[in-house]
Amino acid sequence: MRLTVLGAAGEVTGSNYLIECAGSRVLVDCGTFQGRDDETRNKTPFPFAPSTLNAVLLTHAHLDHSGRIPLLVRQGFTGTIRATLPTLDLLDVLWRDSANLMREEAEWKTRKNERKGIPPVEPLYSLEDVEKALSYLSPASYDERIDVAPGIAVRFRDAGHILGSAILEVRLTEGDERVTVVFSGDLGPQETVMERNPAFITEADYVILESTYGNRLHKSNLESREEFRSVMKDALSAGAKVIIPTFVVDRAQRILYELMLLQKTGAMDSAPIYFDSPMGVKATEIYRKHTNLMSSEIQSWTARDIDPFMPDNLQYVSGVKESQAINEVRNAVVLAGSGMCTGGRVVHHLKHGVWDPNNHVVFVGYQAKGTLGRRLVDGETNLRIAGEDVTVKAKLHTINGFSAHGDRNDLLTWAANFIPAPGAGAAGPVFIITHGEPDASESLAEGIREIGRPAIVPTPGQEILLSSRREEAEREILRLIPAASATDSVERLLSEIAVLASAMKEHAVSGRDYADILPLLQSSRTLLETADGRMAKEAVPGSKPRG
Ligand SMILES: [Zn+2]
Ligand SMILES: [Zn+2]
Repeated sequence: MRLTVLGAAGEVTGSNYLIECAGSRVLVDCGTFQGRDDETRNKTPFPFAPSTLNAVLLTHAHLDHSGRIPLLVRQGFTGTIRATLPTLDLLDVLWRDSANLMREEAEWKTRKNERKGIPPVEPLYSLEDVEKALSYLSPASYDERIDVAPGIAVRFRDAGHILGSAILEVRLTEGDERVTVVFSGDLGPQETVMERNPAFITEADYVILESTYGNRLHKSNLESREEFRSVMKDALSAGAKVIIPTFVVDRAQRILYELMLLQKTGAMDSAPIYFDSPMGVKATEIYRKHTNLMSSEIQSWTARDIDPFMPDNLQYVSGVKESQAINEVRNAVVLAGSGMCTGGRVVHHLKHGVWDPNNHVVFVGYQAKGTLGRRLVDGETNLRIAGEDVTVKAKLHTINGFSAHGDRNDLLTWAANFIPAPGAGAAGPVFIITHGEPDASESLAEGIREIGRPAIVPTPGQEILLSSRREEAEREILRLIPAASATDSVERLLSEIAVLASAMKEHAVSGRDYADILPLLQSSRTLLETADGRMAKEAVPGSKPRG
C-alpha cells in the first residue's frame, strides 16, 4: 500500500494524491496549479499512465482540486469519477468555463505567434474533453460506504468548506492489512455559516490534513460581520464604488447573503449590486437547488420563502458591454471573479478602479503567492494590470473571517478528535500536512506534534508506504522526516529543475542563435550528470531508482 503526494506539497494549489493498494490505483483530487510557472506545471505529464487508474475520488469542485481531470481524460483515463451531487452540478459549470477560457487564451496566443512564425498554442484541454469527463462522473451520497476498486472503499463526509465539499474516509485492504486514510480535503471552520459543520471523525491510521491557514487565526464570525458592515457602510455612504474580488462559487454566494443581512439591518443603502460573472447565475442556481444540504441558518431563510442569495438591487451581468458600463458607475458594489485576481472580469474592474482614491477593494478570500490579489494585499503600489501600468490609490481591506477554510485553531480542534487506534500506544494517526505554503504547513505540523501526534510535511512527489502496523508506520515516517524538513531536498530540487527545463523549452525560439546560452546549459548538464553518477553509485541494489 502506497500513497504518493503529487501536488499541494508545500503549496496550496494542485491537490493530487495517488493511492496504490491490492493492484488498484485510485487518484484523490487532480487539481490545477495556480501562481508561479502554473502553465508549465499544469502541462507537465502525469507521473503515471492515466489509463491505468481505476477511479478518481474528488473532495470538491474547486479547480485547484478538480481542474486537471479533463486533461486526465484527454490522456486516456476511462474510469469512474466519484463526487457528491452538488459537486457534479458545479463541475458542469466550472469545467466548461475553464475550457472556454483556455480556448480563448490559446487563440489569442496563436494569433501573436503567427506574426512571429512560431507554431500555434494548444489549450490544455477542450470542451470535448470536458464533455467526456462529465460523462464519467458518478454521484456519491454522504456517509455511505462505496466500493471503488478491489481493495479500496470510500465514505464521503461533510467538510463544511463549500457546497458539496467532502472529507474522504478511504479504507484500504490488502491481504490481512487494513489501513484507513482520511483526506480532509479543504476543511471548513468548526462553526460554519452556510455549510454543515465538518464531520467529527475519530478513527484513522493516516490523516492528510490541509493547512491553508495553518499559522493564522481568523476573526470570529461576529467580528468579521462587524468589520464588513463598517467598511461597506462607510464606503457606500461616501458614494464610493466597492470592488469585491471573489470566487464565483461559494464566496460570491456568501457575500450575497451577507449583503442581504446588511440590507435587512438597514446598514446598507440602495446602491446597486453588480454580480459581474456569466457563471454567477448558474452557480447561485446550484446553491439554491441544494439548500437541503446547507446549514440550518440558511435553511431558516428558505423555510420562510426568503431567498438568502438575493439581496435587493442585485443585477447579474453577463455581456461584456454591460460589464464595461460598470466602469462609469460611481456608487455601487461590484462582485467579480476570479477570487485571486488571476483572470476574469475583476482584473478589468481593478484596472479601471484601483487608481481612484475614492474606490475601495475588499478582499474576502485567500490570495496565493504570485497572484495579482496577493500583490495588492502585500501593498504593492505600482502594478501592471491587463497590459497597463496602474498606481494603486484605492483603499484596500482584507476580511479574512469569511474564509471557507478553518484557521489554525479549527484545524487543531478537528485533528484532536482522532483517538489512538487499539495497540497504537498513546499516539493517534500519522498526520501528513499538505495544501499550505511551507511556513503554514510546518507550523501546523508543529502544533499537531504538540498535541502528541506524529506529523510530517511531505515534499512534491514523495511516496509514503502505508502500514497498519504502528512500528512500521513510524519507521517510515522517521525515514521521511529529514527529507521533508530540509527546504532543499533532492526531490524538491529535481522537480524544480524539471519545471525549469520545460519552461526553457517553451521560451526557446527556433532558428535563434543561442551562442550566449549554450555554454551555460552545457555546464548545467555536466553538473547534473556528475550528481546522477554519484546517486546511481549510492543506490542500494533492488531499491527504486530515483530521478
Ligand atoms: Zn477549496
Ligand atoms: Zn483547495
